[in-house]
Amino acid sequence: MNFVTEKEREIPLTGNFDVVVCGGGPAGIAAAISAARKGASTALIELHGCLGGIWTAGLLSNILDWQNKGGIIQEITTELKERKAMLFGSIYDAEEMKLLLEEMTTDCGVSVQLFTRVVSALKDGNSNLTHVITESPSGRQAWKGSVFIDATGNGDLAALAGCGFDYGRNRDDEYSDLHGTAQPMSLMGLVTGLKSSKVRQFVLNADSVYEAEGKKKQSPAARENLLEVMKQAGVTPSYTAPTLFQISEHLYALMANQEYGYNAMSSEELTTATINARREVSALVKALASLGGIWRGIRLVSTAEQIGIREGRRIHGLYRITKDDLIEGLSHEDAVCRCTYWVDIHSLDPKVSGSYGNDGITVKPYDIPLRALIARDINGLMMVGRCISGDFFAHASYRVTGNAVAMGEAAGKVAAIAVISEEFPQDVSLNDAGVATSSKAIFCDNL
Ligand SMILES: Cc1cc2nc3c(=O)[nH]c(=O)nc-3n(C[C@H](O)[C@H](O)[C@H](O)COP(=O)(O)OP(=O)(O)OC[C@H]3O[C@@H](n4cnc5c(N)ncnc54)[C@H](O)[C@@H]3O)c2cc1C
Repeated sequence: MNFVTEKEREIPLTGNFDVVVCGGGPAGIAAAISAARKGASTALIELHGCLGGIWTAGLLSNILDWQNKGGIIQEITTELKERKAMLFGSIYDAEEMKLLLEEMTTDCGVSVQLFTRVVSALKDGNSNLTHVITESPSGRQAWKGSVFIDATGNGDLAALAGCGFDYGRNRDDEYSDLHGTAQPMSLMGLVTGLKSSKVRQFVLNADSVYEAEGKKKQSPAARENLLEVMKQAGVTPSYTAPTLFQISEHLYALMANQEYGYNAMSSEELTTATINARREVSALVKALASLGGIWRGIRLVSTAEQIGIREGRRIHGLYRITKDDLIEGLSHEDAVCRCTYWVDIHSLDPKVSGSYGNDGITVKPYDIPLRALIARDINGLMMVGRCISGDFFAHASYRVTGNAVAMGEAAGKVAAIAVISEEFPQDVSLNDAGVATSSKAIFCDNL
């Protein structure tokens, strides 16, 4: 491979913050809000033009593993319900979510910068992370911080800082063979033009819709029905368990695509996966429309700007959550979040598309300890969301967004305490910090 060498240059210092959160997805917004509410000067750096990550740029529309948790996730869901943007179960309106997250972050004084990508990390001779460098329409900028939180999903910041990590299913303990080992990606779409009462048998959250109408639940075999009707229309989706969620009277989320074997850390591969996926989602909707009848008016409103990435780097932390933790239902003194979601492994093999299973692992509710959120190889760095420290199987359970928010909330608090007490996050004596009497109550009211 050929290389060029960049000239050394001076980079303007944008600010000196107590806490710098990189990535504004579900985990990052929670980290930033909770750090700011604890009094830390907090920056939130996000590469897309909105906050929310998979919730908004990814059009996910469904929040999982949140009902047993308090704190910020309850604030978000309560507010969405009040705004009539979460009408049927855990399905929400992504546009209202964007607004809400902008309000929540700016209301508590977080310095939000959109359109900004973290591209480099500086550390001193003692492996202390000191600055991140970003690229944006403002050019190259430097951000100084006391504690950094990697909420980029893929663990970009930690990798740039030189942390070790795992990726995918094979070679679980050793990063070497990146390609083709992770769960598939999926591009979400929003559709309209359907009459709610006519398509109920295809809607996965139909029971919640019936409930909202005061009717008896009927639990249709929604995925099977949708697959069947797509086949009648002459198309077989790459995700053979296609899913339609009803968001409001006229709006639905569609997940019917899977892209196999692409590397989430390669722009070239993400581009190919996205172009393939967008073409497929459009073709599926047009095929349904061609059936006429109840499908005549169906129209694709939008596809996600960001293809949904199930797996990126899992950064090495002071503790690694493994499948044994899930099987045993392990609890910890430094618990930040209790997970209840199952091990949800979407087949890595396109030949068995649509299959998802738990690899024989039955989950007992288990804790995520704070140590899994603290980087092992660099000082002053925490991770939240899907890039925390765990194995392939544990990640397949804890990655969902109810957990991401709880982790973010905890990390933000600990980061703020660390700054006040002038310690690294791993050295914070939580009781000495005087924030709570019991370690389990410190982080979030979710246990
Ligand atoms: C197709 C699909 C379906 C899923 N279904 C569900 C579901 O139904 N319910 C559920 O709860 N979970 C679901 N999940 C899992 C869950 O959505 C993810 O694990 C979740 O995104 C984790 O949140 P996060 O904040 O860690 O990451 P993300 O949502 O990925 O957020 C990361 C943020 O960081 C930003 N970023 C990335 N790199 C940089 C950088 N270098 N500099 C600055 N910013 C950066 C991104 O733009 C993004 O905003 C699904 C995931 C996928 C892919």
